[in-house]
Amino acid sequence: MSATTADYLVVGGGIIGVNMARHLKRRHPGASVHVVDKEPELALHGSGRNSGVVHSGFYYTANSLKARFTRDGNIALKDFIRERKIPLNECGKLVVAKDESELPTLDLLLERGKANGVELHKITEAEAKAIEPRVKTCRHALWSPNTATADPVPVLEAFRKEAADMGIEFHCSEPFAKCEGNRVWTRTREFDAGYVVNAAGLHADKVAHRFGFGKNYAILPFKGLYLKSSEPVGSFKTNIYPVPNLQNPFLGVHVTVTVDGHHKIGPTAIPAFWREQYKGMDNFRFGELLQTMGLGSQLMLKADFDFRRLAWEELKKYRRAHLVGLSQSLATGLDLPTLKHWGPSGIRAQLLNLEKKSLEMDFVFEGDGKSFHVLNSVSPGWTCSIPFTEYMVDEMEKMQ
Ligand SMILES: Cc1cc2nc3c(=O)[nH]c(=O)nc-3n(C[C@H](O)[C@H](O)[C@H](O)COP(=O)(O)OP(=O)(O)OC[C@H]3O[C@@H](n4cnc5c(N)ncnc54)[C@H](O)[C@@H]3O)c2cc1C
Repeated sequence: MSATTADYLVVGGGIIGVNMARHLKRRHPGASVHVVDKEPELALHGSGRNSGVVHSGFYYTANSLKARFTRDGNIALKDFIRERKIPLNECGKLVVAKDESELPTLDLLLERGKANGVELHKITEAEAKAIEPRVKTCRHALWSPNTATADPVPVLEAFRKEAADMGIEFHCSEPFAKCEGNRVWTRTREFDAGYVVNAAGLHADKVAHRFGFGKNYAILPFKGLYLKSSEPVGSFKTNIYPVPNLQNPFLGVHVTVTVDGHHKIGPTAIPAFWREQYKGMDNFRFGELLQTMGLGSQLMLKADFDFRRLAWEELKKYRRAHLVGLSQSLATGLDLPTLKHWGPSGIRAQLLNLEKKSLEMDFVFEGDGKSFHVLNSVSPGWTCSIPFTEYMVDEMEKMQ
């Protein structure tokens, strides 16, 4: 079989890979851009299994990439969704304090929001109840009117369709198998690539290692589970989040109002034993099990953060009663009889810095004149996707 010449070959057709491909094609209309994905269809991993929250950008310090791109990504993604007439629930979000001890972090988030140019209001408990009568908070809450929710699956499909209309070629069921320089083999094809972009999500570290990048990193999978409520549509008016532990990359168990007006609680961030452990023994890989167990034990012993406590706190959330109990500090009437059913799970591709033994909190990428590797496209990567990928293409072009 002869090799296909690709000016740009993108590995991974999630929200990041498809948007990288779109920006490249827009900048270089004459170039051939190919996207390969290992799955028979797109959206089977993070970009189709996330909470669907379009975040507004007040959690992150102003010098981070996440801060920089969440605010602009919020505007860009909502515009994209509205223009394509995909349903969008512009329901906003409250951040609530459990007790007095959490009020200083509420103020810190307010400061971060201001520094990032994000619309965010500190409101009283009474004002919070006027927005969401069921909310519980201690004295104050933060109100983010620009947070919204959407279903990530039709959003990715709209990006894919527009990319295909631009002339970008998609090849599904074609996992990256190996490479020699920029000659890349997938299941049935061979590509002679001018430039390779690695946006392989949960497997981005493995692909990067084949190109000599990301040697200091490995991906640790964390499983996100949700409990779907059987209460009627409209039972909650807005999303409710707790004050987060800012040492963790995860935001804590929250109430999400889905695009159709139902609500769910979660997600967890439970260490998974292999990368695509969505359910039962699905996609079991013995090598991945050994790797995650090895990394997990190293973290237990040596991490510069309390991984043992994080892992233990998260594992307890497998118990429905525990997860529901945690959500009860956010609002009234969240109870076991209405929160019976687990929704589809998602798995976070969280990057671990092997030298520092710490979880990377911000986006990470590496590359050179031949290839570029997106290594930590964690939440809120979906929200950030449009401006973040544009920025990465700028960075990539500086390397060429
Ligand atoms: C539980 C959960 C909740 C989240 N909630 C939010 C949220 O509310 N808001 C938000 O903004 N973000 C959220 N995120 C984060 C967001 O979903 C991710 O940042 C984003 O989807 C990452 O996109 P991606 O394209 O990098 O990865 P993916 O969507 O995982 O795409 C990677 C693609 O690469 C393919 N691939 C992998 N290996 C290979 C290979 N060897 N060869 C070929 N193809 C390969 C996969 O099949 C996949 O299609 C959440 C994530 C999770 C897991």
